[in-house]
Amino acid sequence: MPHASPLITILVIGLTLAFLLGMVATRLGISVLVGYLLAGVMVGPFTPGFVADQGLAPQLADVGVILLMFGVGLHFSVKDLLAVRAVALPGSIAQVALSTGAGMGLGLLMGWGVPTALIFGLSLGVASTVVLMRALEEQRLMETERGRLAIGWLVIQDVITVLALVMLPALMPLMKNGATHAPALLDLAWTLGLTLGKVAAFVGLMLLVGRRVIPAALHYVARTGSRELFRLALLAVALGVAFVASGFFGVSFALGAFVAGMVLSESALSQHAAEETLPLRDAFAVLFFISIGMLFDPSVLLRHPGVLLAALAVVCVITPMIVFAILCLLGERRQTALTMAAGLAQIGEFSFILTTLGADLGLVDSSTRSLILAVSILSILMNPLAFLIVGLLAPWAERRDAARAGTAPDAAPHAAGPLRNHAVVVGYGRVGALVAEGLLRRHWPLLVIETGDSAISAVRAQGGEAILGNAADPAILAEANIAAARLLVVAIPEAFEAGQVVEQARTANPKITIIARAHFDSAVDHLRQLGADIVIMGEREIAHAMLDYALHDMKTQSPPAPPPTGTFRR
Ligand code: AMP
Repeated sequence: MPHASPLITILVIGLTLAFLLGMVATRLGISVLVGYLLAGVMVGPFTPGFVADQGLAPQLADVGVILLMFGVGLHFSVKDLLAVRAVALPGSIAQVALSTGAGMGLGLLMGWGVPTALIFGLSLGVASTVVLMRALEEQRLMETERGRLAIGWLVIQDVITVLALVMLPALMPLMKNGATHAPALLDLAWTLGLTLGKVAAFVGLMLLVGRRVIPAALHYVARTGSRELFRLALLAVALGVAFVASGFFGVSFALGAFVAGMVLSESALSQHAAEETLPLRDAFAVLFFISIGMLFDPSVLLRHPGVLLAALAVVCVITPMIVFAILCLLGERRQTALTMAAGLAQIGEFSFILTTLGADLGLVDSSTRSLILAVSILSILMNPLAFLIVGLLAPWAERRDAARAGTAPDAAPHAAGPLRNHAVVVGYGRVGALVAEGLLRRHWPLLVIETGDSAISAVRAQGGEAILGNAADPAILAEANIAAARLLVVAIPEAFEAGQVVEQARTANPKITIIARAHFDSAVDHLRQLGADIVIMGEREIAHAMLDYALHDMKTQSPPAPPPTGTFRR
C-alpha cells in the first residue's frame, strides 16, 4: 500500500468502513449509527488491525459538530428560541441538576470523592446534541413543536456545560478544602460572572451586528452567481464564527455555530444555505461517530460490569423518567414529554469534554473515563430502542393528551376516521400547498400528510384533514386510509422517499390514481416503475412555461437579429 498521510487514511478507511457497516445495519433494520460506531471501534486502538490517528479523529468530529449545529441554527429563529424558553430553561436546568445528582450519588456510593463524583454525575446528565439531532431528523421531528423544544433544551444544556467547564477548576480548591472562605467564594463569583458575561457578549454581538452583516455578506456573494463561492462563504461563516466564539468568548464550537446559523435563519437564503452545507455536514457527522467508536475499550465491559450497568441506568432509565416528569409538571403534552425523554436518554460529546477536564484536573482516572465512554456508546446504540418504546406508548399518550384537552390534540397524528374516496396529498410545501388548496376550494374530501407541524394547522384551518408524520412510514399511510382513497398526490421533492410512498400506496390500493413529482428524468422512470400513473417533472414544466412566454413575446416583437459571425455562443 502506498504510504498515505494520516488524514487520507482516516478519511478513506474510516468512511469506507462506516459505509459498509452502515449498509449492513440498514439491511438488518437497525440504526446506521450502530454501523458508524462499530467502524470507529474497528479503527480504534483497542482492536487489532489498522489504528487511525487518534488526535485527528476528534478534530474532524469537531468540524462535524460545527456544521451540524450551523444547520440546526438555520432552521431555528430567535423567535423559536424565545417561544420555548418558558419550558426549556427551567426544564433543562432541573433535569441536568437531578440527573447529575443521581450520577453523583452513584459516584459517592463507589467511594469516590465529591469532586470526582460531581464530574461523573455531570457527564451522565448532559446529552449529545449530535445524537439527538440525528434522531430528530430520522423521525422527521426537526420542524415540529417537539423538535424545537428539544433544540432549546440542548442550547441550555450547552450553556450549562460551558459554565461547568470554566467553573469546575475554580470550584475545586473550595471542594477540596471544604472551606467557604471569602476570597475563594469571590473568585468563584467572578469566574461565573465573567463566563456569563462572555456568553452574553457573544450572543449580543451576533444578534446586533452578525444578524445584519452575515446575511448581507452572503447576499452579496449570492449575487456573484457563483455557487462555489457561496458554499465557501457558508463554510467560512460557520467555521469562522465557531472559532471566534470559542477562541475569544469561551463559548463552545457547537453553540457558536448554532448562533451563526440562527442569525441567518431569517434571511431568504437560509433554505439554500442548508441545502448547500448538507452533504459536507453528513460526511463529517459520520466522522464524529467514528471518533467516538475509536475511544471505546471493550474490556471495560468485563472489568466494571456493575457500575457500568448502574451508570447506564442513570442515562437510559432515570434521566428519561426525570425528563418525562418535569415536562408533565410544566404542562407539556404527554407525546412531547415521551419524545423528549427518549431523545435525551443518551450521552456523548459534552460528557467526553467534561471527563477530559476531569482528567486534566487529576480527578478522573483512565478507567472512569473508559466507563463513561462505554456508557455513551451503549446509550447511543440503545437510543433507537428508546424511540421504539415511545412509539409503542404513543397511542396511550395521545389518549391522555386528548382527554386532558377535551379534544383531539392539534399537532398529534389523528385518525382519518370515516374519510373515503378522498384525495391524499403528501407534503404541504411550495407544490403540495397549491394542490391541496385547489382541491379544498373544489370541496374535495382531502387529507394532507406533512412532517412539519405548522403546515398541519394551516390545512386544518382551511377545513382539510391532516396527519403529522413521514408518509414513507406504512403506519402513517394506513392512518390516512390509503386503501379507500381515490387519489394520491406525492408532492415531495425527494425521489427516493417519494418512491417508497408510491410503492406502498400502490400495494395497499391497486385502483388509486397516483400523481407524483420529480426533478430528474431518472426519477420519472423510477416513480413510474413503482406504480405512479402520472409523474410531473418540475423542470420540464418550467421549461414549457418559459418557452410559452418566449414564443408569445416573439409574436409581439420582430425576431432577434442573428449573432454576428465569429461570436462565441454556448
Ligand atoms: P416543497 O419542496 O417546498 O414543496 O416542500 C416539500 C414539503 O414536503 C415540505 O413541507 C416537507 O416538510 C414535506 N415532506 C418532505 N418529505 C416528506 C415525507 N416523507 N412525508 C411528509 N411530508 C414530507
